[in-house]
Amino acid sequence: MHQLALLSELNRIDEQIGSLQENPSRNGETPKLLSELMRNREDIVGQIDEKFRRAFERLQTRYKGRVLSKVVDNSCSSCNIGISSLSLNALKNRGELTFCEYCGRILVY
Ligand SMILES: [Zn+2]
Repeated sequence: MHQLALLSELNRIDEQIGSLQENPSRNGETPKLLSELMRNREDIVGQIDEKFRRAFERLQTRYKGRVLSKVVDNSCSSCNIGISSLSLNALKNRGELTFCEYCGRILVY
């Protein structure tokens, strides 16, 4: 799987884990769901390049989970600052790890 797709997946799982921890279900399913999610997470983390994973973890501390930002109309959807054509090219044509030059989040599209 593509590195950026893996990061998006990791981000999605982390959000699910976060919301389960905040709002445990009443039917007692939460521990089981959580351990399933943690297993998926491990699996995905194992496939992510170290460079991507480190950047993700570093930003996670800083942004409390909102690490990825989607590119919309060539702008970062988190801070609405336009992305340089150099970065867009690196992201879209080469699939590189690209950060928003303004807020520092990892760009995905
Ligand atoms: Zn940004």
